[in-house]
Amino acid sequence: MTDLYLCGYAALENGVLQDAAIAVSDGRITAVGPAADVTPLFPEANRIDWSAFAAVPGAVNAHSHSFQSLLRGMAVDRPFLEWRDEALYRHTPLLDPDTLYAGALLAFGEMLTAGVTTVADFFYVHGPDAANDDAVIRAALDLGVRLVFARTMYDWPGAPEAYRESVADATARTRALAVRYAGHPLVSVHPAPHSPHAASPDMIRAGHGLARELGTPYHIHVAEEPFEVEETLRDHGLRPVQWLDSLGVVDSSLIAVHLVWLDPDEIALLGARGAALAYCPSSNMFLADGVTRLPDLLAAGVRVGLGTDGGCSNNRTSVFEEMRMAALLQKVSRLDATCISAPTVWQLGTSSGADLLRLPVGRIAPGKRADLVAVDPAHLSLQPFHPSLLVAHAVYSMQPCAIRRVVVEGREVVRDGRILTVPAEDISALVAERLGRWPLWNGA
Ligand SMILES: [Zn+2]
Repeated sequence: MTDLYLCGYAALENGVLQDAAIAVSDGRITAVGPAADVTPLFPEANRIDWSAFAAVPGAVNAHSHSFQSLLRGMAVDRPFLEWRDEALYRHTPLLDPDTLYAGALLAFGEMLTAGVTTVADFFYVHGPDAANDDAVIRAALDLGVRLVFARTMYDWPGAPEAYRESVADATARTRALAVRYAGHPLVSVHPAPHSPHAASPDMIRAGHGLARELGTPYHIHVAEEPFEVEETLRDHGLRPVQWLDSLGVVDSSLIAVHLVWLDPDEIALLGARGAALAYCPSSNMFLADGVTRLPDLLAAGVRVGLGTDGGCSNNRTSVFEEMRMAALLQKVSRLDATCISAPTVWQLGTSSGADLLRLPVGRIAPGKRADLVAVDPAHLSLQPFHPSLLVAHAVYSMQPCAIRRVVVEGREVVRDGRILTVPAEDISALVAERLGRWPLWNGA
């Protein structure tokens, strides 16, 4: 059966098309073009009236930590290491599978309503067995969001016990999970050694090797804070990217998160190796990390996607918001309004993010999976509306309430701001019920 979305407008790679039709079959886009041309090709199709909407690609969140949405509002206005101890480490012992499931529903559900159709969840609260990992994946499937489960590999002894594994266990468990979801339409599993400060050289090499074995990228936080640079310089005499390169792991499989504190040689090296960045501008501002040199990284050839990071270091979960923040932060830090453009950050949050996750999404084009967002061009935040202004509006002025429909893999999951799969009221009730058990929450 083919679904034919008849759209007032559609944002395609070469511009915004008026009176467009998008044909979808088995979760895949099979044809896109002027409605007058495409409609006659599918006389039997189920017609879906999006004439009041502009169809845009679903946004791609290249970096998040779903469980952190449970900790939102706690430990705000703190320096990084204090935030880490107060928000994350203090609450980690309270995170069981049911609570992590509630947190993932909260994070992913809120993202869906904001037009995020793909999320990479960098997840490290593994616990003694696979139950925590399964809970996060189950939440994504119950909601119907596309998930990259970036399974973290963590062995720094200073971290909570639930994060830590031996290199052999982390490798075997990540491999087993990846094999279990191989070929799944919505879930893929990538290795994610945590960072140069929280994963040993053996763990980082194992993550990189496993990515090569599985044919996936691998994710790692790099140079978020100055202390990380000081540590690799002190321990190895090298800056973080140079140290990673000495391990043989800087190549096109690298998705480095943050990349705030780099010198020009590190930027050139990342570009030469075809590495990628998951850029999280709001989180960098929230934690006062610093300003990633995004225009320089792009100019060097580094591929870039946008991430919201965790819900307790942002504290929003919208990639459209990150497009806006990326542009504004870069402009003000360089005192140059031309250093980055709306079409560029739009691309980072859609097609470029999809490419670095190696997923056929992020574009409305034949052959891509049908992850679509319908925005209301009559919404006040998109006025004055003209098709040539759609991208500028989506980046700079659009409010989440202008998002009217969200479709993932050809299935409608959000309608008029309501999640159809797991109602928002149920998510809020579940979060309240789980956190109601926390002694800290009750002031005990
Ligand atoms: Zn992160």
